[in-house]
Amino acid sequence: MRDPLGTRWRRRLPVPAALAAATAVVLLVNPASAVVPAAEPPMELVRVADEEANVVEVLLTGTAQLDALVATGVDLDHHVERTADGVVAHAVVTASEAAALTKAGFTLGEVLHRPADARARVAERAATIAGHVARNREFAATTAGPTASAVSDVKIIRADYYTSGTSQVLSVEAKWAQGQSAADALTVERDSGPGTEFGSGGTQTISRFVDAGVYLYHRGAATVTSRPDRIRITSPTGDVAVAEVQEWLPTPGDGPEGPGYQKDFVTSYLTPTELYARIHQLAAQFPRLAEIVELPYRTNGYRRHAQAVLGTAADSRVAVDSRAWGHEGGNDVSVELADPGAADSPLAVTVAGSAVRVTLGTGGAGAVTSTAAQVVAALNAGAGALLRAYTYRGSPGTGVVAPAARTPLSDGLSAPASVSRDPHPVYAIRIGKHRDGSKLGVLAYAQEHAREWVPPLVTVETAERLLRNYAHDGRTRQLLDNLDIWIAPSINPDGGHYSFYDFNSQRKNMTNHCDPSVGPADFLARNSWGVDNNRNYTEYSLFDGYSGASTSCTSGTYAGPSELSEPENRNLDWLAARPNIRFSMNLHSSGNYFMWSPGAYALPDRVSAPRPTLAEESAFWGASSRILAAIKRHRNMAVTPARTGPISDVLYSAAGNSGDMLWYKYGIYAWNFEVGTSFQPEWDEAHDETMEFANGLVELMRVARDFAEDRTRPRSTLTVAPSATPGMVDVTFSTSEPAAVFYTLDRAAPTYASKLYGSAGIREGGETLTVPAGTRVHWFSVDSAGNVENNYRPDGNGRNYRKETAALPRR
Ligand SMILES: [Zn+2]
Repeated sequence: MRDPLGTRWRRRLPVPAALAAATAVVLLVNPASAVVPAAEPPMELVRVADEEANVVEVLLTGTAQLDALVATGVDLDHHVERTADGVVAHAVVTASEAAALTKAGFTLGEVLHRPADARARVAERAATIAGHVARNREFAATTAGPTASAVSDVKIIRADYYTSGTSQVLSVEAKWAQGQSAADALTVERDSGPGTEFGSGGTQTISRFVDAGVYLYHRGAATVTSRPDRIRITSPTGDVAVAEVQEWLPTPGDGPEGPGYQKDFVTSYLTPTELYARIHQLAAQFPRLAEIVELPYRTNGYRRHAQAVLGTAADSRVAVDSRAWGHEGGNDVSVELADPGAADSPLAVTVAGSAVRVTLGTGGAGAVTSTAAQVVAALNAGAGALLRAYTYRGSPGTGVVAPAARTPLSDGLSAPASVSRDPHPVYAIRIGKHRDGSKLGVLAYAQEHAREWVPPLVTVETAERLLRNYAHDGRTRQLLDNLDIWIAPSINPDGGHYSFYDFNSQRKNMTNHCDPSVGPADFLARNSWGVDNNRNYTEYSLFDGYSGASTSCTSGTYAGPSELSEPENRNLDWLAARPNIRFSMNLHSSGNYFMWSPGAYALPDRVSAPRPTLAEESAFWGASSRILAAIKRHRNMAVTPARTGPISDVLYSAAGNSGDMLWYKYGIYAWNFEVGTSFQPEWDEAHDETMEFANGLVELMRVARDFAEDRTRPRSTLTVAPSATPGMVDVTFSTSEPAAVFYTLDRAAPTYASKLYGSAGIREGGETLTVPAGTRVHWFSVDSAGNVENNYRPDGNGRNYRKETAALPRR
């Protein structure tokens, strides 16, 4: 039997010679590269906890200064804009970090996002949820109890009939008063036309739509064989609702999904707990199409030891950590540093329950004489079962401590008790009719970076579109019948919870790898800890000598103690190792980027991880044009060609990122979305971003579906029309299938570095190029499977590209 995937697949090939050669070059340039990055040692950036972090512009002179900024290990947003004057990057910094950057010679620009903005989002989300809850209560109150006997507890909101191709579809939405607490689906009975019996047109079930833990209504669509006139729903309590069926007129240009395609399933931001609840609910509702997979590694948990720092000056500070986790008794521990008020008193420690009292030593005049080092030793000797004490950030602790009132230790965590403090399971939803590994696999994952709140919504919206449209949308059915889709909405749930409840700018996981005897492991540094999950992978990492990750435990790009040291990263490695997965999407925010490998280079000479072959690059570009056209369809917002391409070309080096691991280690076509405009935009914007990037993610599924089959090369046509400007003509391209067009106007052979024709998606039509009459146009087109028009090799040496003169026919 013919291999249905052909020879184009490059999965699990031995390390190609080019790759091995590139690594060898790096080792030559930097002999110590096996252990340290090529960049200078990172400057120590530590956030002062309780100091808030803003997103701030950094105005850079060019790429070299950008590399220098990355090398500081500063916490960078995924936003880099090349301007006429240089480069503008966005950094997430506190006031003291900003001061350190300024001191190091960087110029800061405007403040773009403040914690108050995040608080406003959380408040908005709380208000949305409260509004839903209130309406549910109101509805339940009007339909339950002795006073409500005349009102049905089920209410039909919409009953829409439409045709989709040759099928007829009925979509129903209804609200049931018990919907918050009871999981029952509702059964809809259809008549078969005016005057006919309920049920004569058949029945369909509609299921609960729950967002952020709040029931909204039941909904569902099904194909029907005749246009119903009326429907009836009998609720599980026996109450009845009847409604007339309306004709629904789809808007033209709704997209290739066709009329009646159901979407728009998120109404507010979702915490990791809520994201997981959502996919569990979906899997429960569609057991034949989906299942939940718990990934093999639990996180270290949304939990911390309770801590305190006593004193103000570094050399006289005493830092204490509880032995128990905060929620397991650590938060009950307290420490008091008491002045005995008497001369020649010895240093002593007493413990009563969880209360630790240090009686400070005094001299002959009654003044306190105990140093921080002495108090630390006394605490460890006298209260070592409850806590561990240490001097502040490696200080010798020679300063005399100041007395301090009883100070409770705290883990600093403020999420409600409904957020688990235990090591957290990480879940993926696996979607497809055949989930046995026999179908081509696609993986989408989000929230490696905790504070990026929109990308997880894109994944759950996509999962829900796939499941809820399966029954009545032929194109969705084609995807689920032929693909094995893995969606992991939150890779880093601990950091995600911390971002929602404690520190909105949290990027990393919550694990503290700082050594208290050396550096910032104390309570005041708690917003600086964690491993950057997108720097802890195995290929072209910091540990291999690549740039854009840090060895500092408090850096925004801390790579961790070793490759795959973190459970979050081992989970993704496990997912990528599913042998049938060939396409992936790593969702981040923000910046409206669309990127692929290579994602890292080594300094000082920018030695890049190997570039994809020309054929592979063809597939990346061709598929990208299709995915980007789908994104644009939502509200005509475009990801620009300048923001499309290899990560290290359009953004900056990111050693040890996941996309590179998936591509180089597993041969997966691995893309990276940078969704939208900021980490936590206002809800209206977040909603639009969710809808547009879900379009793109669904299109990736279609690309995957088509990829294996497509051997047809695209054909393109150049059309010349008169221009309003004398001496000029208007030029447009069209293609026989969705395909990207690269062109030159200077008689050079076109390559992937040439201009990309705007709006490559066919549905929008392309941009109009106005050029001098007589201009020679050279171009080629490439489809999403990497098939190039005329089998042209766009490497600068091929000659069989398309060429025409942009001139109007003579009359
Ligand atoms: Zn990110």
